[in-house]
Amino acid sequence: MSEFKKYNIEEFDKYITSLNVSRGIKLVQLHHTYVPSYKQFTGNNHIQLQTGMRNYHINTNGWSDIAQHFTIFPDGAIVTGRSVEMIPAGIKGANAGAICIECVGNFDAGGDVMRKEQKDAIVSVVKILMHKFSLQPENAIVYHGWWTASGKKLGDYTKGKSAKTCPGTNFFGGNTRKAFEENLLPLVAGYEKKTKKMLETANDITWELNHTYFPIDDVDRFKKILDEAKKENNPLYWGYYKLVNRIK
Ligand SMILES: [Zn+2]
Repeated sequence: MSEFKKYNIEEFDKYITSLNVSRGIKLVQLHHTYVPSYKQFTGNNHIQLQTGMRNYHINTNGWSDIAQHFTIFPDGAIVTGRSVEMIPAGIKGANAGAICIECVGNFDAGGDVMRKEQKDAIVSVVKILMHKFSLQPENAIVYHGWWTASGKKLGDYTKGKSAKTCPGTNFFGGNTRKAFEENLLPLVAGYEKKTKKMLETANDITWELNHTYFPIDDVDRFKKILDEAKKENNPLYWGYYKLVNRIK
């Protein structure tokens, strides 16, 4: 069994980027732990809580290791669990090709109020995994409550049929497919949208450069384009700036 490692978002990003995974990954499962909840988290007992979960999963549930690959704590720290090469014990019917993430807390209505640090870490971890395994968040992210206890796919939380309310009736605004699409999906898809917008701006500038005749001593038009790029914080601004100076 692997030793638990604790990471912040930046360290987790580096760890995942350099990780070689031979198993095919197509799903990212999101769960809440329910127990332990915020009540048991002291601010520095990450490894003790993770060890407690492993012991429970092995000794009481009879599993070979802790169920999940990663646990995200209220302070935003990420702790590793079972090896990513192993299939998780997360959702009956949806464990093959899945990465299982447990968020420490009880996120049913009336339970814990998720801290901003944890929210940010969940969003970042999901984005990092989407990027690493080239997944589309609208298909790849799944909630435990979208399956029955016997492993039948419901595709949505269905009271009375779902295995559990997990990841909680108040997890990012709810545990239904609609709540996911309205609340979590825009946060994890935002990165892609921003990149697309940046690329559109870069393409516009490139088009202008290719389609405009610039007299050798007339750089006003260039300057205008560059000003626009600067205003929009386009990261390619300095590249174009250098190009203009070379043309001059
Ligand atoms: Zn669950």
